[in-house]
Amino acid sequence: MDLHDAPDEAAFRAGLRDWLRERLPAEPRQWSGDELRQWSRDLHRAGYAGLTWPAAHGGRGLPAGHQAIFAEESALAGAPDHLNVIGMNMVGPTLISRGSTAQQARYLPGILSGEILFCQGFSEPDAGSDLAAVRTRAVRVDGGYELHGEKVWSSYAHLADHCLLLARTDPTGSKHQGLTCFLLDMRAPGVAVSPLRQLNGDSDFNQIVLTGARVRDEDVVGEPGQGWSVALSTLAHERGTFGITLTARLTVQFARLLRTVRQYGAQHDPLVRREVAELHTRLQGLRYTGYRSLAAQRRSGEPGPESSLLKLEWSLVHQRVCALAVRVQGGDAVLDGYWQHQRLRSRANTIEGGTSEILRGIVAERVLGLPRSR
Ligand SMILES: Cc1cc2nc3c(=O)[nH]c(=O)nc-3n(C[C@H](O)[C@H](O)[C@H](O)COP(=O)(O)OP(=O)(O)OC[C@H]3O[C@@H](n4cnc5c(N)ncnc54)[C@H](O)[C@@H]3O)c2cc1C
Repeated sequence: MDLHDAPDEAAFRAGLRDWLRERLPAEPRQWSGDELRQWSRDLHRAGYAGLTWPAAHGGRGLPAGHQAIFAEESALAGAPDHLNVIGMNMVGPTLISRGSTAQQARYLPGILSGEILFCQGFSEPDAGSDLAAVRTRAVRVDGGYELHGEKVWSSYAHLADHCLLLARTDPTGSKHQGLTCFLLDMRAPGVAVSPLRQLNGDSDFNQIVLTGARVRDEDVVGEPGQGWSVALSTLAHERGTFGITLTARLTVQFARLLRTVRQYGAQHDPLVRREVAELHTRLQGLRYTGYRSLAAQRRSGEPGPESSLLKLEWSLVHQRVCALAVRVQGGDAVLDGYWQHQRLRSRANTIEGGTSEILRGIVAERVLGLPRSR
């Protein structure tokens, strides 16, 4: 594993750093929805959206290493995400590999430019870790299907124009069969979105209730009944270079923790020093595991099981970083607000994108080669 940038990567990094420096405000701040939309358009115009997408689909056809550099530099510069995170990282690659030519032409340009926002409607009240237990029904009607059911935890659904949705078209077969993946217009009659209020007061995700919402035959992604394999391909894309992205953001959080520790004079407290040292070590472990995962991905073209290790370890370290910051601030945490907000939000880290128990199961089976638990 070579940790140095190749010449083309170094040039890409330098150009990106300049671009970010010119465009970002001097101090980090909250961005409004309109500003985030504009930011997504700017990224697209500058050629920083869809770096790894094939050129034929409007991307730049660059290797995963460039995407990792982009994630790293954006996090270090405090840049916000492209507003269409789900469209860019999950739906777009799924449509490129499994969508029809008409679907690709209709959705991909808008996903890249940020004009068409997507959410992902996989989870249901009784189908989270056990995704194949999806119960939302897609009932055959003339020219398409009618959807009936409920989705939960759909991030960005309140902003999204479309949803990549998993529903059951055949209730008779085994639970992995008879599922179909659809592209749903979020403004169609029969789609009701209600925000879910989170522990920290934010409302980033939603319940979606479907009462007869119509999708047409041309809105099926892949073949009817093959939704399980389409969903697996979507979830594999979710992992991509995300370990590097998460680690880069955590590096920024860790630097902020150090500033908080110094601000409160806690750098002389032996317990704080020990915790900071341990978190630093684990952060370095994450960094190098991220590079190892990238090297493996370069060789095989696929994200390997390291991505499960990265997600698991990142979520635990992030929770500890936030908890330590709140502890150091004491009562001031309520007044300052930043770390308290982060601490509460970090509770979701060990649930979203695969719970810790599920990830430990994957590591046990696929990394350690232990027998299957189920
Ligand atoms: C912030 C956030 C954003 C999200 N965004 C989206 C989104 O945009 N779209 C979407 O579709 N979903 C989204 N989700 C849903 C997320 O994918 C699920 O919450 C997650 O998969 C867990 O499913 P569940 O909540 O149904 O828990 P369950 O699957 O009911 O699990 C409950 C508990 O049992 C444990 N458990 C379950 N099965 C096993 C097993 N076999 N072995 C050991 N332990 C087990 C779990 O680890 C967990 O601790 C989001 C969740 C969060 C928190």
